[in-house]
Amino acid sequence: MKERQPAICLRTSDFSETSQVAHFLTRSAGIVRLLAKGAKRSKSKTGGAIDLLSEGDLVYIPSARETLGTLVEFTETAVHTPLRRDAVRLAVALYLIELPAEMLAEADPFPEVFDLLHNALARLAEPDAPLQAVLAYCQWRFLKLAGLLGDLKTCVACGATPDLSGAAGRGAYFTSFQGGLLCEACEGAAAEKYRLDGPTLAGLAALATVETGVKAGLSEKQALAVNRLLAYHVSQQIGRPLRMARHVLGADTNRP
Ligand SMILES: [Zn+2]
Repeated sequence: MKERQPAICLRTSDFSETSQVAHFLTRSAGIVRLLAKGAKRSKSKTGGAIDLLSEGDLVYIPSARETLGTLVEFTETAVHTPLRRDAVRLAVALYLIELPAEMLAEADPFPEVFDLLHNALARLAEPDAPLQAVLAYCQWRFLKLAGLLGDLKTCVACGATPDLSGAAGRGAYFTSFQGGLLCEACEGAAAEKYRLDGPTLAGLAALATVETGVKAGLSEKQALAVNRLLAYHVSQQIGRPLRMARHVLGADTNRP
């Protein structure tokens, strides 16, 4: 039984001289892994070799878990050429597709994640796109949708509301284990934690404002600080940093 879905290519690998395995994030069927027979031949009926970030209309035959489905046809609707022409933009885009590729289970539908990624890739391709801010919003929203990020207002250990102004005390910490804040009374007992500095707190506050429907400015410095925090969270969750993290965030991606 064939299925048809809007899809974004997250990962590809060679299967044979002429065939590829491609992982797609589909809008309503989650991640699917498909064998694209003959895709690397120049005149393939499946539509030719499939590139990362390609977006389009996917026709495929699903299969049971842990085995490959079959790609029938992939018609590209967005090639994202501007992203491919600029190394920095490309790195951010590749980071974004690594998030669902590494963190979502196969065949688990997540239409909101598909829409988020679709919109973020389109925004990144615009000449004036603030790259770190687009990444910060998309990464933060993804982790919220995946259920890995709490409200970041109260301490996950004691329920207190920590002072986030940065003016007093040692400030607040983030713990990946519980996906939330630790107040200064509780952080001492936690082995795994990440100190939230001024730019990170300001960036998180701006993102929380966006969630209420208000358009909030996020400076690139604040966005970079938030991205480093969220990259730390991701690395704790999957046991290693994303491959693109150091290309997008510099060396300081695993600050504890
Ligand atoms: Zn506490």
